[in-house]
Amino acid sequence: MLAGMLPAQERVTAASLPSKFTIQAQTACETEMLREIGAREVFSGKGYEVLTEVARAYGRAIPHIYVFPKSLNIAYIAASAAVDGRGKIVVGQQAIKMFDAFSLKGFLGHEMAHLVSDSAAQGCNDYILRNPQMEADADALAARTLGTGPLRAFLQRVLALTQGQNWDAKHRLEALQ
Ligand SMILES: [Zn+2]
Repeated sequence: MLAGMLPAQERVTAASLPSKFTIQAQTACETEMLREIGAREVFSGKGYEVLTEVARAYGRAIPHIYVFPKSLNIAYIAASAAVDGRGKIVVGQQAIKMFDAFSLKGFLGHEMAHLVSDSAAQGCNDYILRNPQMEADADALAARTLGTGPLRAFLQRVLALTQGQNWDAKHRLEALQ
């Protein structure tokens, strides 16, 4: 959400792979995307522990969690839950470092809201333009599921990290009050 789409996802899209959804195409796309961004699955650590808590609150299986270098971004892979019911979330190493557990819960809670609302209408290969309404809906679902505290802490942290220059976060924070 900080930088919008993952650059890797756009690169994969640009390769004009078939967009018709099949588990096989989805799996191939996920594998390529994860390899391109240098992501590795983790089974412990702060990100894993917080995501476990978030998934429990949603009453869902814990998504696979992958950590990749440098980025402050967190994103779920579109339609990934259609593969095995769990889904996949990629987390930038900097996000784990720069967000404390409480604000990370809000960040992961927002992506989890996208994941659980995903109808798999668009797969890993499709370019997805996030509109403000989708973001507001995800925030609202995360707030209902986790309480507004973690989400507010997350958006405040984004503002602190961007010296108050992230208008999207500012607007979403206002919408939560
Ligand atoms: Zn979002």
